Amino acid sequence: MENSLLAVFAHPDDEAFGVGGTLARLAAEGARVALVCATKGEVGEIADPDLATPETLDQVREAELRCAAENLGVDELIFLGYRDSGMAGTAENDDPRAFINAPAEEVVSQLVNTIRRLRPEVVVTFEPNGGYGHPDHIAIHHHTVSAFHAAGNPDLYPEQGTAWQPARLFFTAIPRSFFHEMRDRLEALGVDTSDFDRFEESGAGWPDDKIHVTLDVTNSIEAKWAALHCHRTQFGPDNPFRRLPEEEVKQLFSREHFALAWPEPEPCLEMDDLMGDLKTDDC
Ligand SMILES: [Zn+2]
Repeated sequence: MENSLLAVFAHPDDEAFGVGGTLARLAAEGARVALVCATKGEVGEIADPDLATPETLDQVREAELRCAAENLGVDELIFLGYRDSGMAGTAENDDPRAFINAPAEEVVSQLVNTIRRLRPEVVVTFEPNGGYGHPDHIAIHHHTVSAFHAAGNPDLYPEQGTAWQPARLFFTAIPRSFFHEMRDRLEALGVDTSDFDRFEESGAGWPDDKIHVTLDVTNSIEAKWAALHCHRTQFGPDNPFRRLPEEEVKQLFSREHFALAWPEPEPCLEMDDLMGDLKTDDC
């Protein structure tokens, strides 16, 4: 299998936390890595008011993502040009430019074009709940799944290039056990974990038995760490992870988890990496 991966996310920084180590590891191994970001995170929180204002946040976060992509070894970064829709139930949801209000056809057509042009073997996006239910994460999940299947069908979007069917689709996911482990470790160190409440309330976390690949990204943790620090407006001094010893955080961030979505996984499937063999063990 030719090593080529396309990651599709919603906001600057989505790529760093969940899959930054994987992107960096694959890039270091010589794979072609491309990243699509649907918005510029225009309505994210601003960790330090000296860094940006709501008016400049789009430009600042674009620059932050360019910095992260460079550190991770991403070959091509593509912005779809939509606006951050904000958390569910906020006024930003109603903005006509908001990503959640974009017609599905329009988004899928752009993604089909990107898949056909770049011809990746592997596509990665969020799981159906987007990690913690952010409306843009859920939207990019649906559009990417549609585009993954449409790209290989020459009858669909014929104006967007020659059909290309990527071999595999993966969802990045936080296993429930990992989520609890993270919370326990933070609590043991006396860090306030109330931020986690809204994640848990939204049903965050993915069933452990549906994780097919856990990648150890220790060898690329420095690149992931550098990418995270590019996102200065998000990963500020108040971030709970900044209150932990650096080595502890790096250890937590050294595992990344994926569920195979296509081809449909056999029961008990386990894989060593995203491009490796699909093997089924006894379970
Ligand atoms: Zn996001």
